[in-house]
Amino acid sequence: MEILQKDDTTLRVLMKGTDRCYASAIRRIAIAEVPVMAIDDVIIVDNTSIVYDELIAHRLGLIPLTTDLSRFVLPKECSCESEQGCSNCRVMLVLDVVAGDKVRTVFSGDMISDDDDTKPISDQIPILKLAPGQKIKLEAYAKLGKGKDHAKWQATTVAVVKDVDQNKDALELYIESVGSLKAEEIFSRALEILGKKVDDLKTTAEGLASRG
Ligand SMILES: [Zn+2]
Repeated sequence: MEILQKDDTTLRVLMKGTDRCYASAIRRIAIAEVPVMAIDDVIIVDNTSIVYDELIAHRLGLIPLTTDLSRFVLPKECSCESEQGCSNCRVMLVLDVVAGDKVRTVFSGDMISDDDDTKPISDQIPILKLAPGQKIKLEAYAKLGKGKDHAKWQATTVAVVKDVDQNKDALELYIESVGSLKAEEIFSRALEILGKKVDDLKTTAEGLASRG
């Protein structure tokens, strides 16, 4: 494997003599199984805007959040075993905005996170508009999740496998990140997850063989 190009959000990897199944498996895992943070629960404390609570919660879920996979675990794998979550599996972000005497657009940058590593990837994503005097106050809870459970937890916008040179049996894997993780990290996590799947399969196969 050879890295052809990389920056924070994109990665091109050349794979020589690699089975297409293997490259496709990495691609699928990058899309569906590498976890990222997204807002999952929203508690609306006060909303005098004309936008429905459900719509605001939906929009918040789609805002990509920066993700530190070394610090957080999936809620179902967390030792707290609590519905509410703890500091290892959950981050709270607060939105509390009142419009003055002008119409005010509320942006992702108005959200205040209680964790510096978990915040919107951009301050400029619009959430809703407030007419003069209207207000929005809410608590949003972000958790790790996987793209296979909901699109809001997808780490990639694009992940494709292309033929480079059929004679030389070379493939190119292209990954583009939504911005929560570096493209390179998505790739290395996908490899890790694939490695674990292979190990699990081996263990299962050995178990079956010893029983036979
Ligand atoms: Zn927890």
